Formats: sequence, structure tokens, C-alpha cells
Amino acid sequence: MQKNWIGKSVGAQFNLEVTDSDISIEVFTTRPDTLFGMTFAVISPEHKLMKNILDLSKNQENIKNYISSASSKSEFERMSITKEKTGVDTGLFVINPLTNESIPLWIADYVLINYGTGAIMAVPGHDQRDYDFAKKYNIEIKQVIKDPNKEGGIELEAYTGHGELVNSDNFDGLNSHEEASSQIIKKLTESNIGSAKTTYRLRDWLISRQRYWGCPIPLVNCNKCGLVAENIENLPVKLPEIDDYLNTDGSPLSKSESFVNVNCPECGNPATRETDTMDTFVDSSWYFMRYLDPKNSEKPFNEEHINNWLPVDQYIGGVEHAILHLLYSRFFVKALRDLDMVKVNEPFENLFSQGMINFKGSKMSKSKGNIVDPEGYFKSHGADALRLYILFMAPPSDGVEWNDGGIEGTRRFLFKLWDNLETISELEEIDSKNSDEEKLEIYLNQTIDSVTKHLEKFEFNTAVSDLMKINNQITDYIKNNKVISSEVKKSTLQNVCLLLNPFAPHISSEIFQRNFNTEITEHNWPSVNKEKIKNPTYELVVQVNGKKKHAIEASRGLQQTEIEQLCFENFKLVVKEYKKVIFVQDKIINYVG
Ligand SMILES: [Zn+2]
Repeated sequence: MQKNWIGKSVGAQFNLEVTDSDISIEVFTTRPDTLFGMTFAVISPEHKLMKNILDLSKNQENIKNYISSASSKSEFERMSITKEKTGVDTGLFVINPLTNESIPLWIADYVLINYGTGAIMAVPGHDQRDYDFAKKYNIEIKQVIKDPNKEGGIELEAYTGHGELVNSDNFDGLNSHEEASSQIIKKLTESNIGSAKTTYRLRDWLISRQRYWGCPIPLVNCNKCGLVAENIENLPVKLPEIDDYLNTDGSPLSKSESFVNVNCPECGNPATRETDTMDTFVDSSWYFMRYLDPKNSEKPFNEEHINNWLPVDQYIGGVEHAILHLLYSRFFVKALRDLDMVKVNEPFENLFSQGMINFKGSKMSKSKGNIVDPEGYFKSHGADALRLYILFMAPPSDGVEWNDGGIEGTRRFLFKLWDNLETISELEEIDSKNSDEEKLEIYLNQTIDSVTKHLEKFEFNTAVSDLMKINNQITDYIKNNKVISSEVKKSTLQNVCLLLNPFAPHISSEIFQRNFNTEITEHNWPSVNKEKIKNPTYELVVQVNGKKKHAIEASRGLQQTEIEQLCFENFKLVVKEYKKVIFVQDKIINYVG
């Protein structure tokens, strides 16, 4: 998004000579490879040469009317692809510098004064807006690039892709994407007509605002010295206390005489303080540096802190910040780096944009009354159940609709898990391990591995579902066992609590405290025992037409094709001999027909 906002384009800039005059119009194009297809030129109604063109043209009345109607349209309306293009013929001609043909010069408001040079070479064969315009006003359309994927040409629309050049004199046969542009730029340069040029869509950022909030700009206007910086010992310039801080008629600060009237920091004569304040984006562009040294009264920050802590590992924020705030922050950091004030290149390593939870079909809003009130759920279900449900309802990057029923499910899960862990802690301890315990240990290690990986990728919903799965394994274990080895008891209680802690901190802390008499926060995140992570096995039931024919030990997690291969090798069951095969992972395979 930032790249698009900056809008760097490399192309050619060259001059179009207006015939029978000494006027030349500068144009910029990102597609110099299509220059032979230029059949007219367009200048924007606000172009600085408009007066000269009016003087030369015999179509003055129409031009004046057109300019005045264009001035009432918004930029958005003028840029629109779907709106019908309008324009007016100047009756003048310019020379295509490569073909030396005279082509008509038009005025049209789809060309904006702020973009490029405010004038374009129009190539209707290969630009859709130029195409629509040429069709409407019966201007010649010329094909100069062949579409490699289509026979025929541009009867219905412009071809804006790349391909081999045609109708382009010496440049015929060159590939438009690779060689043609650079060759044509070389030709323009050698003939002193133009040159290569890089342009940007990014515009200047006006940082001043006529409002009360925001930092005063520490500058003073002096009649004699001009704009002068406030003396360092007078910084920071603080906002004055004023009664009327609304900006209904201009800058609120200008109404405070004690604020406005000062002496010039240079000559000492009476002068006036700048009354605009800075845009809040100025502050948000470097607060993360000041926060590292907030009490420093000598300077903005001590650079050692910045070099030590920045860049920020993880930025979490709405996608609406992706362009302005995050881009300005980068500009600030890069400028400070160039001024040798910091040694970092970028403020943030990574951006994560969260989705929005909707309620009753729209964004939650107090005034619309569609709000999920957390306090109600604290009382009815508990803060842990609410938190767990929010994490479980969808990946955090997605938008999702609030579902009142879902939180009941997470509450039941937490209660069941609590019951299970209490049962585990009360089981009689023995020294040896049976195969169920070995399986439980493997599940536990797989869960540690999976939850850790999902947490790092912000996939909280999947991590919660891992916790639900291990809870089912514990349920199975309790059903079939009345004793447990002390080692597995401890690792189950400890690790499940630790894994649950980020999602349901209250319940997990409580269970932990009861079992181990220490605070859960004093313990490290569990690590995986690599030897106990391999897939455990299960008894696969093999059916033919719904009747159990065989059973075999298989590794958990095997997919259908792998299981089919296993059944072929052991029982000579061939998939092709049956109408269909029904497979339930880690349970059963049924050959039907
Ligand atoms: Zn002065």
C-alpha cells in the first residue's frame, strides 16, 4: 500500500512542439514504448500555458466554457474510469517527435494538473481512457503493440499489456516490456527531445493545522528577519490556556494576545508567534522514540536508548494506519538517521492488522445501541470464557459477527478442562507408565509444539482448538485409567496450565497455584521434548460394506491415500474394485460397493 501511495514511476519526459508557434508542452509518460501510437495530445484545463493556447486558438469561446465547467468537478469525478470523458478541441496541432506527424491538441479534464506535467501524449490504442476519448471524438486509433495472446487488434478496447512493437519504424519487433522503452528513451535523449525521468505520486505533507490541540509550531514571524526559530531556552512553546478553543473562525491561538505578541529571537523587535499547531501525525511519527526516554529535559531522546530498543518487533494496528501514520514514521526515522541522530533504518519490523467484530450486522456503536457489553459476560460466564471466545471465534485478522451462543461453548470447555485436571491431580500415583500414558505424553508434546507455533503466527483460534483436543485426550485417559505415573501427572498439570494461561489467565493461574503452590508467572513457557513428539498409533478398523473385516495398528494423522496403500499391502483391498471408499481420519476406512 505504501509503495502504491508513493507511486514511483520511471518513464520519459519530452517536449511536444505546437505547430506555427513557439510553444512547447512538456509531457511525461510511463510507456515510452507506445510513442508511435500517439495520435493526439491532451492538456489539463488548469495548465499554465492555457493563456498562450487561448491566444492562438480560434475556438476561444468553447475553451473558456469548458474550463469553467471543469473547475466545478471534483478530482475523483475527473479521474473516474466509468464517467464519460469530455473535452474540447483547441484546433491547434503538436508534432509527434518520432513520426513527425501533426496531431491534434485537445483540452480534457481527465488530465490532472497535479499529476505528471499536467499534459499527456494520448495513445488510444494502448490506454483505455485515451481510447474512450478517441472513440467519442472520432480521433485516429493506432495499434503499435501486438497482443501475444490474441489475434486481431484493438477494435473493442485498448490493449494495455506488453508485446512486440509494430508500426513503430526501426523499433518494430522489439519487446515493449524489455527493450523498447529504453531504446526509445535513448533516441529521445540523443535527439535532444527528452530524457528518462522518475516521478512520484506522493505529495507534500502539510503539517500545520488551524486548531487548538496539537503542539505549537516554535517559529516567530518578524517583519525584519522573516521566519525565525524560537530560542532553545524558550522551548517547548506551550499551548496557552484560553476560553475559546474552537476553530470556528480561524486559528484559536491567534485570539490570545499574550501568546501571539513576542519579541523576535534574533533582533529583539516586536514580532508575532506562529499560531498554527502541528498535525497530530507529527507526534505519532516519533512518540515511540520519546517513550524510550520520556523524562529527558535536555533533548528529544538519548540515542543510545533508540539504538538499543528499536526497531519495534511487532506493530499491531488497524489497516487504516498502513499508509499515513506508518509511512510518516518511516520518514522521521530515515531523516533522523541521515542527520546522524539514530542508527536504525526502520521503526517497525512487522505489522499485524486486526479484523473487526461486528454485532447485529454492523460495526459496534454506542449510539446505535449494538454493543456487546463485557461486564454482563463477566457476571454470567466469567472473563476467561469471554476472552477465550473472542480468541476462538475467528482468526484475528478476519472480521467476524458476534454470536451470543458461542461463549457458552467456551465456558463449558473451561469447566470440563478444570474438572479433568482436578481428576488427574487426584489420581493415585505409581512409578511405571502404561501405553495410554505414553500416548498422552506424545499428545501433550504435540500440543506444546502446535500452540507455540500458532501463537507466534497470531493464529489464536487454532491454538484454542489444540487445547480443546488435548482436553479430549485427557477425558479419554481418565475414562480408562485409575492411576497415573507421577511424572506424567506433573507434566500434564503443569504444561496444560501454562499453555492455557495466555487464553484463560485466571483459571489457569488458580489451578496452577493449587497444585504447585507457586505463581504460574514464575514459570517459563513449556518446551517440546522432541523424543516424545512422534505420531502415536491407533487401531484402524477396516470395513467392507459396513462390516468390520480387519483391524490394524496405524500411525495417527495418516491421510486417506496412505491408509488405502496400507490396506492394499496388508489385505489386498483395491480401491478401484469398489464404488466408493469412506474414510474417517484416525478411526475407520469402509470400502463400499
Ligand atoms: Zn527580527
